[in-house]
Amino acid sequence: MNNEATVAAISTPNAPGGIGIIRISGDDALKIAGKIFVPVSGCPIEKSKGYRAYFGHIYDAGEKIDEGVCLVFRAPNSYTGENVAEISCHGGLFVTKQVLRAALNAGAKAAGPGEFTKRAFLNGKLDLASSESVMALISAAGKAAAGAALNSLEGNLSREIKDCCGKIVTVCASLSAWVDYPDEDIEELKPDEIKSTFAQVKSRLADIVSRYDNGRAVTEGVDTVIIGKPNVGKSTIMNLLTGFDRSIVTDVAGTTRDVIEEKAVLGDIVLRIADTAGIHETDNTVEALGVDLARKRLDRAELILAVFDRSSPLSDEDRQIADMCREKKKIALLNKADLPCESDMAEISRYFDRVVEISAITGEGRDELEKAIADVMMTGEFDPAAACLTGERQRACCVSAIEQLDECINALNNGMTLDAVNVCADGAVNSLLELTGEKASAAVVDEIFSRFCVGK
Ligand code: GDP
Repeated sequence: MNNEATVAAISTPNAPGGIGIIRISGDDALKIAGKIFVPVSGCPIEKSKGYRAYFGHIYDAGEKIDEGVCLVFRAPNSYTGENVAEISCHGGLFVTKQVLRAALNAGAKAAGPGEFTKRAFLNGKLDLASSESVMALISAAGKAAAGAALNSLEGNLSREIKDCCGKIVTVCASLSAWVDYPDEDIEELKPDEIKSTFAQVKSRLADIVSRYDNGRAVTEGVDTVIIGKPNVGKSTIMNLLTGFDRSIVTDVAGTTRDVIEEKAVLGDIVLRIADTAGIHETDNTVEALGVDLARKRLDRAELILAVFDRSSPLSDEDRQIADMCREKKKIALLNKADLPCESDMAEISRYFDRVVEISAITGEGRDELEKAIADVMMTGEFDPAAACLTGERQRACCVSAIEQLDECINALNNGMTLDAVNVCADGAVNSLLELTGEKASAAVVDEIFSRFCVGK
C-alpha cells in the first residue's frame, strides 16, 4: 500500500531459544536486509525474486555478528502485504537483540505492538475479526481454543458475519429503492418477508453469541478460586493441577499468605486459579491481608474449588466455607483420599454441584475433577469448527446488531414506515461491518492492535 516506515522487531519470544527471528517489513525491507545480511551464494537480497531462503552472514556496521537464514517475501505476497525479510539467527537474547539493532542501524524503525498484523489488516490481508484471532491463537492454552482461533483466523466467523450482513443489505437496498423512487414500478417488499429475513439473521447472530458465552471457559479460561481452611491441601492441589511446585507447602497452618495465580489446563478448559490463604479468622495482620484478598477474589470467581480434608470430620469452619460458595459454580474436593475417610460426604454434597474425591499427593481423582469441571462449565457442547467470536468487542458488535434487528421487527409490527425500518437495519449493518473492520474507526483499530505483542 504504503509509504509508512519500514519496521523491524524480534518475532520470537524474549527468551533464549534455538532460533531467533527478526522480521523486517515495509518498502525498504529488502534494501535494509541486504545491508545487514550477505548470502554465501553472493545473490543480493534486494534483487531476490521473493519466496526464497538464503544462508549467509549477518553484519552490524561491517562487523560479522552471526550466521543465519534470510527468508524473502515480495509485496503483496507476504504476511503484511509489504516487502518482508525474516532473518533467522541463533536464538540467544544477546544475538537476536544485536541483529535487531543492526536492522535499526540500517534504517528500519522499531515496530510497535501488533504492527505487522495491523499492516496485514490495513493492506487487506486479514479482516479485523481474523486479526483478533491471531492473538487468540497465540494465547490459546488448549486444543479446542487453538482450533477455534485457527478457524476464525481462516475466516469462518467473517464469512458467517458477511453472509448475515449481505442478507440485511439486500433488504435495505430494496427498501431504499422503494422509498427513494416511489414513481418507479418497484415491487414493494412485504412486511412479513422482511420480518422473516430479519428474524432468521437475528437467530443466526444469537447462536453465535450464545456459542461464545458457553465456550468462554474454553476460549478465555475460567476465573477459579481454591478455598478451604488451613492444611486441607489447597497448595498441594494447586501444584497438582498446574504441574509446578510454586506455592509454599508446609505443615504449619496458615503458611500460604498471598494470592498466587496460575494457569492449569484440564482437557479443553483453562483454569486461571488463585490459590488463596485459607479463609479463616486470624489475629495475624499479614495473614489477615491474605484472607481479605482471598475474599475479594472469591467475589469475582466463576468457579470455586472448595477443598476439605476427607481424613478428618467436618468442622464448623468447613461448613462456613461451604456456605460461602452459594450462587457460584462450585465443586467440593475431598482431599487426602489416600487416607482413611472420616468426613461426611452426604453433608458436603448438599452444598455443591459436584463432589470429587481426590488425593493431591498421589494424583488420584484428577481425571474425575476434569470431567466434573467440564460438566459444571458446560463445555461438552463446544464445537471449535463453528463460527466463534473472539472477545468482548466482537460480542458487543453482534449484540448491537441483534438489538437493532429487534427494533426493525418491532417497527414492522407497529406499522411504522419502511423508512424507519431502513434506519434500524442500517444500524445493524454498521455493527456487523464494525465487527469485520470494514467500518471500524481508527481508534478502535489502534486499541485492538495495542493489545498485541511486539513482533506479531
Ligand atoms: P493448605 O494449607 O491447604 O495449602 O495445605 P498444604 O497444601 O500446605 O498441605 C498441608 C499438608 O497436607 C502437607 O503436609 C501436605 O503434604 C499434606 N497433604 C496435602 N494433600 C494431601 C493428600 O492428598 N494426601 C495426604 N496424605 N497428605 C496431603
